Amino acid sequence: MARIAFIGLGNMGRPMCDNLTKAGHDVLGYDVVPEARDAYAAAGGRVASTLAEALADADTVISMIPTGKHVRAAYEGQGEDEGGVLTHARPGTMLIDCSTIDVESARAVSKAAAEAGFVMVDAPVSGAVPAAQAGTLTFMVGGTAEGFERARPVLAAMGPKIFHVGASGNGVALKICNNMMAGMSMVAISEVLALAEKLGLDHQTVYDVMTVSSGNCWALQSYCPVPGPVPASPANRDYQPGFAAAMMLKDMRLSQAAAATSGAATPLAGSAAALYQMLVEHGHGNKDFSAVFALITGRLTSA
Ligand code: NAD
Repeated sequence: MARIAFIGLGNMGRPMCDNLTKAGHDVLGYDVVPEARDAYAAAGGRVASTLAEALADADTVISMIPTGKHVRAAYEGQGEDEGGVLTHARPGTMLIDCSTIDVESARAVSKAAAEAGFVMVDAPVSGAVPAAQAGTLTFMVGGTAEGFERARPVLAAMGPKIFHVGASGNGVALKICNNMMAGMSMVAISEVLALAEKLGLDHQTVYDVMTVSSGNCWALQSYCPVPGPVPASPANRDYQPGFAAAMMLKDMRLSQAAAATSGAATPLAGSAAALYQMLVEHGHGNKDFSAVFALITGRLTSA
């Protein structure tokens, strides 16, 4: 059983805490926003009112917070008088960041952690809130073999698929690549379905044939952006998420930043990112990212 300080009690963090607790771990939650702490406490969770309090007895830290800037603030310190995890954690504490952030920040924080004597891994997840609730997240872990082996039993409480994908930062690198593919393929299948309609094909026929043909992809088979073929997909409930367009835009931007820094050419992903940006700018950032089909076909209902 681990004594876990869980940092970031948001949409993902709270259900992850619940599954860690169910698995018998001792979880103490912390969030910079008092309302987030209160919401977790009201649901029966134990909360600390400061980061230092959360870390005082912890042997493991898990963070699930928005961006690289937030992760750097949480680990390296939030101001002149207030240290971060690297100041307050006890020697030997295992550090696990599950946030989806840029590769540079992930590598910088891991380096700072190693310099301070800690073992840290980046372990971002595939799967949104329903997977966090069901304990079926997939983890992509970047770090040393020792870090992976220490993180694995804790991560297992939140999801069965746990992959060691290389050195620090490789976890977020793979996560960014995966979501770039999901974002592009959703745009691609939306354009295909829009064309098929114009050519007189019905959605179900396209689905039945393409899912057993060379044009098949996850966005079509499991997350179809038109109502009907996949009853559980957000298209059947006016694109209630699911995975919000604003989150997909964030991840597409991370992919474009990584492409610019590394010199990779990603013209299709650039176009897809622009479409998600339009969706968000039209006021649909809270709709599922598969609403890009409605954008392309001019069928967006008012925000
Ligand atoms: P959220 O905004 O619901 O929650 C984030 C929480 O972190 C907030 O409560 C915020 O107050 C807190 N926080 C920010 N900075 C902090 C700090 N320095 N110390 C303590 N708490 C801090 O976000 P979320 O949806 O839970 O997403 C969290 C991360 O998970 C993001 O990186 C996101 O990209 C990733 N992710 C989200 C989903 C999803 O479907 N929501 C899926 C996969 C990955």
